[in-house]
Amino acid sequence: MKISKMVSDIPASPTLSITAKVGALKAQGQDVIGFSAGEPDFDTPEHIKEAAIKALRQGKTKYTPAGGTIELKEAICSRTRNDYKLDVGPDNVIISCGAKHSLFNLCLTIFEPGDEVICICPYWVSYPPIIKIAGATPVIIDTTTTDFRLYADQVKEAITKRTKGIIINSPSNPTGMMYGKDELEKIAEICLENDITIISDDIYQKLVFDGASFFSIAALSPEVAEKTFIIHGVSKTYAMTGWRIGYCIGNPEAIKAMTRLQSQSTSNPTSIAQEASMAALTSDQSLAEAMRKTFEGRRNIMVSKLKEIPGLDIIEPDGTFYCFPSIKGLMDRFDGANTFANFLLDNALVAVVPGEGFGSKEHIRVSFATSEDNIIKGLERIKQALT
Ligand code: PMP
Ligand code: GLU
Repeated sequence: MKISKMVSDIPASPTLSITAKVGALKAQGQDVIGFSAGEPDFDTPEHIKEAAIKALRQGKTKYTPAGGTIELKEAICSRTRNDYKLDVGPDNVIISCGAKHSLFNLCLTIFEPGDEVICICPYWVSYPPIIKIAGATPVIIDTTTTDFRLYADQVKEAITKRTKGIIINSPSNPTGMMYGKDELEKIAEICLENDITIISDDIYQKLVFDGASFFSIAALSPEVAEKTFIIHGVSKTYAMTGWRIGYCIGNPEAIKAMTRLQSQSTSNPTSIAQEASMAALTSDQSLAEAMRKTFEGRRNIMVSKLKEIPGLDIIEPDGTFYCFPSIKGLMDRFDGANTFANFLLDNALVAVVPGEGFGSKEHIRVSFATSEDNIIKGLERIKQALT
């Protein structure tokens, strides 16, 4: 069968394929420890599931408006007004089948062939493929040499007359790094000067540690907010990855165009999942906070144990549930992260995501969205396999 050139060029999402591989090995009875998951290991809180069951019983099983229900849009606006101090209404919102889908719709709507879009490396695996599907070209800023810090000068240097957008993801998947307000201010100024659209992927907003407060570039000023699209969703905060609800907030004209695109592809996101997401956003947030606290405790264990493994070098993540240690000290034994990840799976029965998909062959991503016992056992196995 002839596969189109565009689709032939798309790699499968490595995070999803490795996690699927771990599932298959476990199903065969192998005692694999998975550090590859990009999702909370907790179950969705009971009251959110109850809201979905109630919706089912009430017959909320029909199509909804293509861009999502007005009720969920209102709930998203109210949350955004509260968290970002931004004056947004339902016309600023589209609800999609996950944040990935919102980002996909957005890139197809605002970028086209000839455009360049800046991505910060290490980047989330799906950014470059989505930009390419839109026909645009990803331009990469490397922060592996600046301890994952992003400086405005790097952005300045990456800009050409073709630059149309930049994707900021803070805290970042895979590094866990949060960018400071001062640097974001400078970056926003550069974007305004050069008419560059900012995409702020804030999906890990609620997963920040050490009492730090989250800050989004979108919240800097009304002028910056006008040039910014926020990508967000319920997957990570509420352990709802399988429900597939994400959203985008931004310029109403673009949101309308994205809704048109969505109406010709998936139609609305699942009606029942939208009801559940409303419960997630509008109810007591203490369960989400409890999950965040647990992640923080696990982060502390993982970082201290990673530091004990010779050859690995770790920058402590500010948020998310990922560490992204450097394996530079092991490059005399392994020619890259792919080889190292295969070695770990074969010799330690531990699954990690090699850095290549995030733009670095000298790093691996280890997720602490797993139990403390697994973290301790898995890292001990890695240590043993390397000695
Ligand atoms: N952005 C980032 C940085 C992510 O890590 C993820 C994880 N899946 C997403 C977007 C998409 O999340 P979802 O589609 O599950 O809402
Ligand atoms: N975003 C998560 C990850 O990075 C989930 C998998 C995916 O959507 O790529 O692992």
